[in-house]
Amino acid sequence: MKAIDLLFGDLASILSNTVILVILALMFVVSVRLFLDRRKKGYLSMTISIIIIGIQYMLQLYLKLHAIDTSHTAYMLLMLKIISFVLVNMGIYQLYNRTKRKQYVFFYGLIIMGFIVSILHFFIPELYNGTPGQVRLLQDIGLELYVFVLIFLCFYMIPPSIGQQIKYQLALTVFFFMQTAHLINAYMYGNAQPWFSLAGNALPIVYYFLLFMLLFERVVELMQAIYNSSITDGLTRLYNRKFFYNRVTQYVQRHLPISILFSDIDNFKKLNDTKGHQMGDDVLKQVAQILKDEAEECGIAGRYGGEEMVVMVTDPSIKMDEFAERVRKRIETETIVTASIGYSKYKSGLSAEELIKQADEAMYKAKTTGKNKVVKFA
Ligand code: GH3
Ligand code: MG
Ligand code: MG
Repeated sequence: MKAIDLLFGDLASILSNTVILVILALMFVVSVRLFLDRRKKGYLSMTISIIIIGIQYMLQLYLKLHAIDTSHTAYMLLMLKIISFVLVNMGIYQLYNRTKRKQYVFFYGLIIMGFIVSILHFFIPELYNGTPGQVRLLQDIGLELYVFVLIFLCFYMIPPSIGQQIKYQLALTVFFFMQTAHLINAYMYGNAQPWFSLAGNALPIVYYFLLFMLLFERVVELMQAIYNSSITDGLTRLYNRKFFYNRVTQYVQRHLPISILFSDIDNFKKLNDTKGHQMGDDVLKQVAQILKDEAEECGIAGRYGGEEMVVMVTDPSIKMDEFAERVRKRIETETIVTASIGYSKYKSGLSAEELIKQADEAMYKAKTTGKNKVVKFA
């Protein structure tokens, strides 16, 4: 055996099939895990499509090893290719979307169209009088060209509704070249052109590797989203009390010179009572956005309670009186409410709890001395 055999010829295609089966096995594990974890129908079709692709490649490998190549096996492989292509793309769509009836009709419609096109396969031998080789090529051409229709449809219809669009379109582009190389080789060179054979063996590996990355990346995204929702508040998207408190504790334990700003919206109950809870929620979001903006470069903002929001300023160069006044002023001018604000600076010996309590006390003083003002803890 020569090294070159690994790139060209039967051995190369067996090797390529094997590598693809390994990638598929990895994808299978990931997608089954995703499905068992979430029980969403969407992840099931990804799993099923991987099984079908697996069957396609195992069958291909089996036929290759036993040198079986008939018009029936070719038909079966082509149909599997089309079904699995549609299902895998549906799976990718479902990784990002809840599928409604309309989409199922679309995807299953594509498969049914494939079966309709495949009718050609059975009529060609009766319609066309040629050599067996010519008949074989003509039998498959309908389905082979239909693959291009599928690629173009997916390329333009799916990316607007999913993430990782570039990676997805790259994968489809690879699939496009893979199919092109396969057709040129089959129809112009009788499958004998070595470089096209190489492309036919190597490109699928790239394609499935990209699909694997896409799936893997999606799992990471989902995990990230779960983590984010466990540390943030659903309404305002600020950090929740627990996360904020833990962060303050970390800084305090390292004796870092932080400050805590504590704000409480004035007469918020009245706003809820007169303008409704929805309006109250909208105002909370606006105030939260102001705090988030202001904290962005110098610390973190959190929601401490109902309409109580906090900022931990970790940048020691920030002048807290100016910072707090800027926040107060922005709330006053940009929203229909005002806020009372207190702040306190860390001093050695204080615990996180004490430091936050001091800022709260200062805020309370602002409340009792007229509201809509800033008070420093003294
Ligand atoms: P003060 O000026 O003394 O702070 O008066 P206040 O009415 O703002 O103070 P109080 O703490 O009595 O009322 C807070 C209100 O905030 C009570 C509750 O109805 C409202 N609230 C708490 N969380 C939410 C929320 O998530 N959405 C809405 N819309 N209202 C909330
Ligand atoms: Mg309050
Ligand atoms: Mg209040």
